[in-house]
Amino acid sequence: MRGYLPALMSDDATARRAAIVGAGPSGFYTADQLIKAGFEVDMIDALPTPFGLVRSGVAPDHPNIKAVTRVYEKIAARDEFNFFGGLFVGRDLAPADLRERYDVVVYAFGTADDNKLGIPGEDRPGSYPATRFVAWYNGHPDAAAEEFVLHAERAVVIGNGNVAIDVARMLVLHPEELAVTDTADHAIEALSRAEIKEVVLLGRRGPAQAAFTNPELRELAELRRAGVEVATEDMELDDASARWLEEHGDITSRKNVEMLREFAAAGPRPDATHRIVLRFLRSPLEIVGEGEDGHVAGVVVGTNRIAGEGEQLHAEATGETETIDCGLVLRAVGYRGRPIPGLPWNERRGLVMNEGGRVIEDSGEQRLGEYVVGWVKRGPSGVIGTNKKDAADTVARIVEDLDAGAIPAPALSDGDEVREWLAGLNDRVVTWGGWRAIDEREVVAGEPHGRPRVKIVDLAELHEAARSAVPPAP
Ligand code: NAP
Repeated sequence: MRGYLPALMSDDATARRAAIVGAGPSGFYTADQLIKAGFEVDMIDALPTPFGLVRSGVAPDHPNIKAVTRVYEKIAARDEFNFFGGLFVGRDLAPADLRERYDVVVYAFGTADDNKLGIPGEDRPGSYPATRFVAWYNGHPDAAAEEFVLHAERAVVIGNGNVAIDVARMLVLHPEELAVTDTADHAIEALSRAEIKEVVLLGRRGPAQAAFTNPELRELAELRRAGVEVATEDMELDDASARWLEEHGDITSRKNVEMLREFAAAGPRPDATHRIVLRFLRSPLEIVGEGEDGHVAGVVVGTNRIAGEGEQLHAEATGETETIDCGLVLRAVGYRGRPIPGLPWNERRGLVMNEGGRVIEDSGEQRLGEYVVGWVKRGPSGVIGTNKKDAADTVARIVEDLDAGAIPAPALSDGDEVREWLAGLNDRVVTWGGWRAIDEREVVAGEPHGRPRVKIVDLAELHEAARSAVPPAP
């Protein structure tokens, strides 16, 4: 069929079969654990390419983090593993179709949408969710045609997490720093022409509550052409924060405060042509615009004080406001999942309804044989490795349920037939061999330029590259 399907495996008629929906880190860690527990695994992804946020989320100037894909490649090389890219669960097939055909279905599709601020002007031209900007510079096919207005002198990034740091850094990288990365060509071109000289990061709470991790924060002081600036007065912790840091702060938050104090003491870097300015206790109240299309012209910001007691400190408005002029706003205030019709959904949290990884109905009743892992199980938190433990936890629930005889056998149990069915659901299904062909083409294109790869960002071109795969020997 189409000459690039895998050698469909399965001599073992007794093996349990699992479908994993989503080929990101949590999906791969789950595949690894399930294979070790004796399962055959069919992994399905909406994109023709695997690796989820490692390919389209992790910043391109962090190749060491992206190198984790080597671990996933080893998992994919197992005989018990098959990949079906280009299949969209919720459009090409439904959760019920999978449940009918697999002992176990594990959802690992992450959190594709952005949290909203809920303030006036949020959707003006020039104000974008960081999720979209990240997808754009990482060459996600759905975001390749986006255009970001980068000709203003100042950008404001809202949020104090690592995504906020990533997008701020990407905005001020020197073109030579960008040129050696796998940033999508369209983004290298646009970012190299960008006129942004200053990026202001707004944290609604104080330095002690920032969600940055230490290496990411430290990196801001190591950029080639951009300095990092923090006002000394922002580093005078209020009593509640000082107490919080002492009693509840972890090593990360303590080290963050220490580093931020060093940044404040060092002052502006004299040789820097660009700057990243960290401001704390500032909430965006409105994004204001100008001109015919109401393009972003500034952010009205309210000053906060820290309120609350013990572990739960929150920001409370003081009533003071100011306007920060800017021509670009990136909102980096967290992700949420995009529901799949047919799966119980926790709308408030933007996650699949679940209890410790077991999918449950609104009533609390377990959906036997259906599980969830990663960000769409627990929310967008932690680093890539956090998903390994998370996958192990869900797989432990699966094994418990199997041992208890709680999972009914699927109605359609022939693994080869099921894989034929999957492969025939549309005419663009990409196998692991297809992905390897894409991978090779990208890597070869990057070699002359000292880049890890030149990403193919057009879906049709990705499929064309996948079709060039040499079919496996019969
Ligand atoms: P995050 O770490 O949860 O940070 C979200 C930030 O948005 C917090 O500072 C939060 O402040 C703020 N926020 C939320 N609602 C807000 C509002 N209405 N107004 C103003 N600020 C608001 O999320 P993230 O940055 O999206 O990162 C997601 C996960 O990916 C994190 O675990 C992160 O560490 C990880 N990540 C890791 C790397 C890396 O390792 N290099 C890179 C990128 C992402 P409050 O604390 O006050 O709620």
